[in-house]
Amino acid sequence: MPAPTSHVVTNQPPPPHVPDPLRADPALRAALARNAPPWAAALAARASAFAGDPENHALATLANESPPRLRGWDRYGHRVDEIEFHPSWNTLMARAVALGLNGVAWLEPRRGAHAARAARYLLWGQVEAGHGCPITMTYASVPVLRQHPEIAADWVPRAGASVHDPRPLPVPQKDGAILGMAMTEKQGGSDVRANTTVATPGDGGWLLTGHKWFCSSPHADGFLVLAQAPEGLTCFLVPRLRPDGSRNDIQIQRLKDKLGNRSNPSSEIELWGAFATPIGPLGRGVPTIVGMVNHTRLDCILGSTATMRAALVAAAWHAHHRSAFGRPLVRQPLMRAVLADLQLEYEGAVAMAMRVARAYDDGHAGDAHARGFMRIATAITKYYVCKRTPAFVAEALECLGGSGYVEESGMPRLFRESPLNGIWEGSGNVMCLDVVRALSREPEAAAALHDALRAPAGRDARYDAVLSRVERAMADRDAAEGSARQWVEDLALLLQAGELLEAGPPDIAEAFCASRLAARSATFGALPPGVPLEVAIARALEL
Ligand SMILES: Cc1cc2nc3c(=O)[nH]c(=O)nc-3n(C[C@H](O)[C@H](O)[C@H](O)COP(=O)(O)OP(=O)(O)OC[C@H]3O[C@@H](n4cnc5c(N)ncnc54)[C@H](O)[C@@H]3O)c2cc1C
Repeated sequence: MPAPTSHVVTNQPPPPHVPDPLRADPALRAALARNAPPWAAALAARASAFAGDPENHALATLANESPPRLRGWDRYGHRVDEIEFHPSWNTLMARAVALGLNGVAWLEPRRGAHAARAARYLLWGQVEAGHGCPITMTYASVPVLRQHPEIAADWVPRAGASVHDPRPLPVPQKDGAILGMAMTEKQGGSDVRANTTVATPGDGGWLLTGHKWFCSSPHADGFLVLAQAPEGLTCFLVPRLRPDGSRNDIQIQRLKDKLGNRSNPSSEIELWGAFATPIGPLGRGVPTIVGMVNHTRLDCILGSTATMRAALVAAAWHAHHRSAFGRPLVRQPLMRAVLADLQLEYEGAVAMAMRVARAYDDGHAGDAHARGFMRIATAITKYYVCKRTPAFVAEALECLGGSGYVEESGMPRLFRESPLNGIWEGSGNVMCLDVVRALSREPEAAAALHDALRAPAGRDARYDAVLSRVERAMADRDAAEGSARQWVEDLALLLQAGELLEAGPPDIAEAFCASRLAARSATFGALPPGVPLEVAIARALEL
């Protein structure tokens, strides 16, 4: 008997397949060409091939469906403190390392390595976010480790190796190494000066005793840890194994049961006289670790932008293939407004993400102005992009209707992931306070921001109006802290608009300024009348 009409599957989109996400993303292509050297294109193309490979998306699903488990003891009762992973995790790690997302950028003699890496991160980050955490911490540890040349000699080449080596061996015997960090304690995360972990000299090094409330990837080969030495808060490298190969005194208490980021083990640990080596001057732990934190914050921007992009691709794919009320969703005027608005949000985010990454190249090459820009633009952009991501993903999820709420669409994973970067490495308020602090205490950062904001002035009346407003708000030192969210948001939008006015397609810049500078809506798709949408829609659908 032929199947009744009601049993035939119709009007369901085919499984999403974007084999070359870079080719499908004109905004990233333009930002790559503008901010990275020409040699970065071939590396980005390789990352794109990886990111478009359905096998990697299947691995991402597996790694999240089979989260890591803590094995505290062996069968005889000895502590082992091991993390058991599904094999998909190590394959994802190996691929991320092969793409050079770990510390490779620091070993690249050619200028432009950080922007080149950023483009690869933006592509590969669309596949899976959890393993990005140890990859990021490895990348970000390098500038801190380099403050101690003897340690750096062993660790830095391995942090930048092109192979992932999960074997539990002392680092000099390994082909590749990964790093983590442990700053956050129960009584204070943002306020690290409240740390109570104690460091005392002994055993040919230092011994650390204390508790860390968050330590992601506790299987890493080493951790940058803040602890109170007699001289004050100090940064230490704590290896997972002591130099003689025995287990260091780090006990993993439990793994956190988290909202998202499930493939990545985040733990509570106790240090019981753990062997450690100070990095940077004793008592200068905060300025030392800031060298890492700036880079992890850059990756928060990249990771959240990649999450936005993955959500947008899913929404555009669905709207293209699904019809409702007689025509494809993508032809329905309100759906067009939503997709266009999401594309505009992504355009601003990706343009700025790559612009900030370029400042890392120029800043590390000795350009003081770029260093100031990198400092302040990282804080501003991290605040805004990470804050926008959950609302963005929720809207994209809704474009899939009920299917978007169903696990196998992949959207729930993106949604669970979306708030994380807003918390990690400086929550929203802390980022705004960091902007206040940089403006008042770091003249290089204040000057770089001033110049960046002034460069596009005079090109667009809406830009100039917001610039005047923000300059007045910043000048009011008494009110500056309490209203910081408002004017840091303005700063973020001005920086994004400036990039688009300078280099974006005119219709994208126009629509961005009309919808974000002249008027602003709390939801996506509520665009003011007359905003040109067609270019944004076409770019969203270039799949
Ligand atoms: C999945 C995950 C993984 C993590 N991995 C690690 C890791 O590997 N290593 C590590 O060290 N940490 C890690 N963290 C911890 C993370 O960095 C902290 O949670 C974060 O820095 C905030 O610290 P807290 O949780 O103590 O919150 P608090 O510092 O108590 O902040 C709570 C709230 O108060 C706000 N706030 C703080 N100070 C002020 C102020 N002066 N004015 C106004 N508002 C303020 C904050 O913005 C925040 O919203 C991880 C967190 C998560 C969620």
